[in-house]
Amino acid sequence: MSDELVADLAVIGGGAGAWTAMRVGRSHGKRVVLFEQGHLGGTCVNVGCIPTKALVRSAEVVETIRNSTRYGVAVSGFRVDFPAVMARMAGIVQTSRSFYERAIAADPGVIWIPKTVHFTSPTRLEWETGSLQVDHTIIASGTEPWWPPIPGIREAGIDSTSLLELDSLPERLIIAGAGVIATEFAQIFARLGTKVTLVARGLHILSNIDHDAVAVLERSLRRDGVRIMHGTKVREARKSNEGWVELELERMDGQIETLHGDAMLVATGRTPKIAALDLAAAGIELDPTTAGPLVDRELRTTSPHAWAVGDALGRQLYTHVANHEGPYAAKNALLDAHLIPDFYDQVPGAVFCDPELAVVGLRPDEAKERGLDAVTSTYPMSRNGKARAMGKEDGFVRLVVERGTRRILGATLICHDAANALQEILVAMAGDGTIGAIRKSVHTHPTIVEAVNACARELEAQL
Ligand SMILES: Cc1cc2nc3c(=O)[nH]c(=O)nc-3n(C[C@H](O)[C@H](O)[C@H](O)COP(=O)(O)OP(=O)(O)OC[C@H]3O[C@@H](n4cnc5c(N)ncnc54)[C@H](O)[C@@H]3O)c2cc1C
Repeated sequence: MSDELVADLAVIGGGAGAWTAMRVGRSHGKRVVLFEQGHLGGTCVNVGCIPTKALVRSAEVVETIRNSTRYGVAVSGFRVDFPAVMARMAGIVQTSRSFYERAIAADPGVIWIPKTVHFTSPTRLEWETGSLQVDHTIIASGTEPWWPPIPGIREAGIDSTSLLELDSLPERLIIAGAGVIATEFAQIFARLGTKVTLVARGLHILSNIDHDAVAVLERSLRRDGVRIMHGTKVREARKSNEGWVELELERMDGQIETLHGDAMLVATGRTPKIAALDLAAAGIELDPTTAGPLVDRELRTTSPHAWAVGDALGRQLYTHVANHEGPYAAKNALLDAHLIPDFYDQVPGAVFCDPELAVVGLRPDEAKERGLDAVTSTYPMSRNGKARAMGKEDGFVRLVVERGTRRILGATLICHDAANALQEILVAMAGDGTIGAIRKSVHTHPTIVEAVNACARELEAQL
C-alpha cells in the first residue's frame, strides 16, 4: 500500500449528500478525504436529474414543433437527430461535473480518492492502494438499480444509466416500472419518436400521487403515443440473437400476452449501494425495511463513528433530501451538535413530464385517514391566464389545508412549471406554515403561480 492518510472527516460518495457534508467540514477548517469511485457530482449530475432534464427539454422542443400550428406557426419538416440530442445532454453533464472538479482542485483541504473504498474497522477505511485512519465517516454512497426476480430480465433489460448511453433511438422501447424514472423516460422517448410501452404492475402509475393528477398525466402520455399497460406482470424476459427483447406478460384478467421491443428499460426501483462497503466491519447494522444503514434521528449509524445520508438510506430518493441531510450529519459528526432533521414532512416530489407534477405533504385522502379536519380546493389551470396564453391549460392546483389553523397540509400541482410554482407553497410551509403568506404576497400577473394564490383564495371561503 502506498497511501497512509489521516483526516478529520471521510465522506463516501461524490454526490449531493457527500458534497454538502464535505462543505460543512471545510467551513470548519477540517481536513476531508472524499471517496468517489466514479464521476464527481454523483448520480444526479452524471446519470440522474441533469441528463434526464436535458432530454426532457429536447422532447419538449419536438412536441412544440409537432404542434406548432396551434400557435400559428407552420413548420414544413423536421427530424430528430438523436446523436445530437445525446451530445447536447453529455455536454451539459460535463459542464455540471466540471464545477465539482474545479472546486475540489481549488481546495487543498480536500483530497479526492477516485477509488472504491470499504471499512476494515469503525475508524479505518481502505482502498486498493491505501488506507485512512479517521474518527468520523459520512456514508453517502447512493443507490443502484434494483432488479426484480424475473427470469431473463437482467440479460434482456437495461437500467437507466445504460439507456442514457444509447447511440441510436430504439424503434420500440418497453419500460418495466411505473415510478418517476419510468414515467419521465416514457414521455421523453415517445416524443423523440420511439413507440413506447409502459408495463405497470399496479392499477396506477405513480401510485403514491393523487390519482386525479396522475390521470391528467396519463392522458398526456397517451397523446404522445405511450401505451400504458396497467395491472400487468412480467413473467419472463428473453433477448433474441438479433438483439430484440421478448416479454411474456400476465394481464389483470389472467391473459398471457407476448410483447416485443428493441430495448427494455427496467426501472422497477433502486436499492442502497452498500455491498462493497463492508459495513459489518465498522459495526454498522442495516435497516431491514430500507436495506440501507440503520440510523437514529441524528443520522448516526450503529457505529459511534459513522453517519449516513441521502439515497444510501433508501428513504426519500431526491437530490434535495441528500443536500439537506449532509449538513446535519456533518455538524453532528464534527461538532457533536445533536441536530435532528425536521424537514421530512415538507419534502417536495416532482415528475418532470408535460404537464409537470409537483407534490408535497398529504393528499386529501391521507389527511382524512389521519383524522384531520381538512379542507381541499382544486383550481383548474384552464382558469389561469398565463396557462391559456401558453397553450398549457391541462391540469390543476390542489391545496389541502387544516380548518381553523389554516395550516397547509399538502399540495398537488399538475401544470406547466409545477415544481417552480410549488416552491411558493414550500416557502409558506417553512414559514408560519399557513396560507397567510401566499394570500398576502402580491403575485406577478400573468404567471402560473397565480393559480396557487387563486386556489388558496377559494379555499379561504371554506375555512
Ligand atoms: C434517472 C434518474 C433521474 C433522477 N432525477 C431526479 C430529479 O429530477 N430530481 C431529484 O431530486 N432526484 C432525481 N434522481 C435521484 C437523485 O439522483 C438522487 O436522489 C441523488 O443523486 C442522491 O444523492 P446522494 O449523494 O445520496 O447519492 P449519489 O448521488 O448516488 O452519490 C453516491 C456516490 O457514491 C459513490 N460510491 C458508492 N459506493 C462507493 C464506494 N464504496 N467507494 C467510493 N465511492 C462510492 C457512487 O459512485 C456515487 O457517485 C434521479 C435519479 C435517477 C437514477
